[in-house]
Amino acid sequence: MGKEIWIGDVQNGVHDGQQVTLKGWVKRTRGSNKIRFLVLRDSTGTIQCVGKRDVLGDEMFEAVKEALIESSVHVTGTVRVDERADGGHELDVEAFALIGGVDPERPFPVTESAMLTEDEEGNMVWGGSEFLLDQRHLYLRTARATTMLKLRSSAFGAIHQYFRSHDFIEYQAPNFVAGAVEGGSTLFEVPYFGRKAYLTQSWQLYAEAAMPALERLYTIAPSFRAEKSRTRRHLTEFWHAEMEMAWSSNDEIMEHGEGVVRHIARTLLDEREAELTSLDRDLDMLARYADSPYPRMRYDEAIETLQGMGVDVSWGQDLDYSKEKVLTQDFDVPHFLTHYPKVAKPFYHRVDPEDEQYVLCHDLLAPEGYGEIIGGGERTWSEAEILKRIDEEGTPREPYQFYIDVRSYGGVPHGGFGLGVDRVVSWLAGASHIREVIPFPRTSRRVTP
Ligand code: ATP
Ligand code: MG
Repeated sequence: MGKEIWIGDVQNGVHDGQQVTLKGWVKRTRGSNKIRFLVLRDSTGTIQCVGKRDVLGDEMFEAVKEALIESSVHVTGTVRVDERADGGHELDVEAFALIGGVDPERPFPVTESAMLTEDEEGNMVWGGSEFLLDQRHLYLRTARATTMLKLRSSAFGAIHQYFRSHDFIEYQAPNFVAGAVEGGSTLFEVPYFGRKAYLTQSWQLYAEAAMPALERLYTIAPSFRAEKSRTRRHLTEFWHAEMEMAWSSNDEIMEHGEGVVRHIARTLLDEREAELTSLDRDLDMLARYADSPYPRMRYDEAIETLQGMGVDVSWGQDLDYSKEKVLTQDFDVPHFLTHYPKVAKPFYHRVDPEDEQYVLCHDLLAPEGYGEIIGGGERTWSEAEILKRIDEEGTPREPYQFYIDVRSYGGVPHGGFGLGVDRVVSWLAGASHIREVIPFPRTSRRVTP
């Protein structure tokens, strides 16, 4: 058992001229009764293997012929450099074993050529047909899906690295909660031993409770929101990277938002250049996302810009996807929008002491029409103010008593943000839909497979 040789290394010239045993899955197969060409894949790449009847003998050659698409196999052969081959190498097969076969009556149902379809809005999306969504467990093996999963892994790594290198402590909050963070309309209610509980929409309220203990904390965890709207950027279960920081202003929190997003872009360029190229991503543009500062713009200015573009939007509205899409279409790097009207944001946002109509908050909007990837800001931190804001909003105090208590004992100015990891990966990968970057997407229409 075990695996010693990786196709990616073979294609990088590590085993030229050597005899190797490759373990993987059949991606394509063709040929005649005398010679078979079999493209083998593993998690690191693909290589064409050439099997001849006169080399293998009848029994092994028949096994090669039987190995249908997505059969798992062991292939032993000599690595030959061949400039014309995909990746620059081929394998001359000397021995072959079929490990896990595929029933010819039920061939592998997913074909890479049928992955792109048109959605209701006329956008071309990858893997979005009901058929492919039903076959998601098999779809994951396609080149595009595999690439997305690798980018996702690098993004998660980059987030941990960023926060840990800036002295943040990783901290976990419960997923069953009693109150809303982001408004009742997207709460998932779950029966809880004769009571009602909800799935968490955000780690934030529980992070604020630990803020006086840890001062700088972060997490990457799932958040749940009953999003009914069908957009290309909403999941009902998404991965949320959140941070909370004591003694911090809106500006200081934005610096970390910018810092972590730039670090994710830089990490993808360093670790996943081949994958980004395979998705036709413009590497110079991604380098700009990693290196250029992100401008800051007040909400009022964004509203004026949108109105100037003929968009029907009025002061006081939160910006939805359609508006952010128009606003960010021509951005060349992400932009922060700050100082939203108080009426557009929940009670925990701190009112701007300089002008009480506004709160000290920010959203970070990604370019290329992707829109919001971060929401954050300063928190209402004094006991008197939080009680006033809760009552003003007509929110019951009871589920938030713990949140209020935190302020009764040594409240300090603090704040934080939430970053949608799936959204960031979707944008940096140039995905056609947020579904593309999560293995088993959960949306209002689907919890299977
Ligand atoms: P939107 O207006 O797009 O619904 P939001 O204002 O509800 O976003 P926040 O509550 O600020 O978002 O959440 C913080 C971040 O979490 C967002 O900036 C986004 O990146 C991500 N996020 C929020 N809701 C979703 C979702 N349903 N699916 C994927 N990511 C999400
Ligand atoms: Mg939302």
